[in-house]
Amino acid sequence: MINPNLIINTKNWNHLTTLSKNRKWPHAILFHGPLGTGKEGHALELAALLNCNASENKKSCGTCPSCKKTRSFQHENLKLVLPLPRGKIKTSDDPITKAFVEPVLKEYLEMLKHKQVDPYYSTHITGANTILINSIREIKHDVALSTINNEWRVVIIFQAEKLCVPSPEAAHALLKILEEPPDKTMFILVSSKPNAILDTIHSRCQSIYFPPISPEIIQDILLETESDSVQAMIVARISGGNIRLAHELNQNTKDLMEKLYLFLNACFSNNPDIWNRCIETISRLKTKDVNQMEQLFSCVGLFFRDLLYYSATGVDNEIVFRNQMGKINKLTNTYLQADWHACIQHIENTQNYISRNGYLPLQLICMFMDMQQSLRGEIYEFFNLKDWISS
Ligand SMILES: [Zn+2]
Repeated sequence: MINPNLIINTKNWNHLTTLSKNRKWPHAILFHGPLGTGKEGHALELAALLNCNASENKKSCGTCPSCKKTRSFQHENLKLVLPLPRGKIKTSDDPITKAFVEPVLKEYLEMLKHKQVDPYYSTHITGANTILINSIREIKHDVALSTINNEWRVVIIFQAEKLCVPSPEAAHALLKILEEPPDKTMFILVSSKPNAILDTIHSRCQSIYFPPISPEIIQDILLETESDSVQAMIVARISGGNIRLAHELNQNTKDLMEKLYLFLNACFSNNPDIWNRCIETISRLKTKDVNQMEQLFSCVGLFFRDLLYYSATGVDNEIVFRNQMGKINKLTNTYLQADWHACIQHIENTQNYISRNGYLPLQLICMFMDMQQSLRGEIYEFFNLKDWISS
C-alpha cells in the first residue's frame, strides 16, 4: 500500500481486486459515500495498484518507483482533477495552468503534501466551487495520446459532483470522453454527493459505496495518539463514521465539553438566565459553524442516552460518558420519575426544527420547558464546571 494510514474497506477492495484478476476493469468507477470514509485514499491506492511493478496479496508494494511516484502525485500517468478557482482563466480554451496563480498553487502543493501522509485530508481549495471545463479539456487532450511505457493511465476526479455545478459544462465534456473510453485508461470519480452527478455519468460508471467507519475502529485510531479512552469513545460516537471529523473533534474536545456543560445545566434548570446563556451560545455556534452546533446536540443526546441506559440497567459497561459516572448516578437517583426517552425526543426534535431554520430561541425555550415536564422532579443542583472539565 502507498498509504499505511488508510483503513482499507475490505469488502470494496476485494471486489475491486476480483475485477483485476478477471481482467474486467471498468473504464469508469464512482466511489461514493459520506465524508471521511477514505474514498479518495482508496482511489489513490487503486491507481498505485494498477501500475505497481511488485504488487503482492492484491495490494501495491508501496516501494517500487511507480508506487513512489503515485504516492507523491508525480506519476506521469496519474491525472488529478479537482475544483479550482478561475485564477487567470478567461475562456474555456485557456490552459488549466492559468488557474494556478501564486496563492492557489501554494495551497494546492501544500494540500498534496498533507494528502501523502493523511489519506483523509480535505482536498478543498479556497474559493473553488466548480470543476473547470479547462481541466476536462486537458484530460481529453491527454487521453488521446498513448500512455507512457504502456502503463495504465488513471484519471482521478475528486469532488466529482462539482462537475455539474453551477453548470453541467464540464460534466458534458467528460461524458463525451466516457462515451468512447480510451484503451488502458481508468476514470475514478469520487463524491460524497452522488445525487448531484448527472444520471448519464452515473450510468457510465461502476458505482461503489463507502459506508461510515464504525465507532469502534475510529476509537482505536484515536487511541493511537490519544490516551483518554473516554474522550476517544465520545468523539468516535459523535463523528458519525467520519475519520477526518473525528480528528478535528479530538483537537477541540475541551471547548465542546464546556458547551455541553452549559447545555446540560440549562436542561436541568428552570432559571431563564441560565437558559438565555445557553441560547446565546448556541445562536453564535449556529452562525459561526452549523456543524459544530449539530455535534453539540449529538453530544447532549448521547449524555441523555447514558441516563436512559443507566436508569434502566444500573450497569455502566455501555456508558459513553464513563468519566461522568458520579453525575450520571446522582441524576438518575434524583429524577426517579424522569422519562429519559422523552428527553431524548425533545433534543432530537429541537435539533431538527433548528436545522430546518426554525426560530432558535423559541425552539430552545420550548425544549427546556418540555424537559422540565419530562424530568418530573426536583431541580438539580448546578453542575460544577471545574469538576466537569477535569473529571
Ligand atoms: Zn509498487
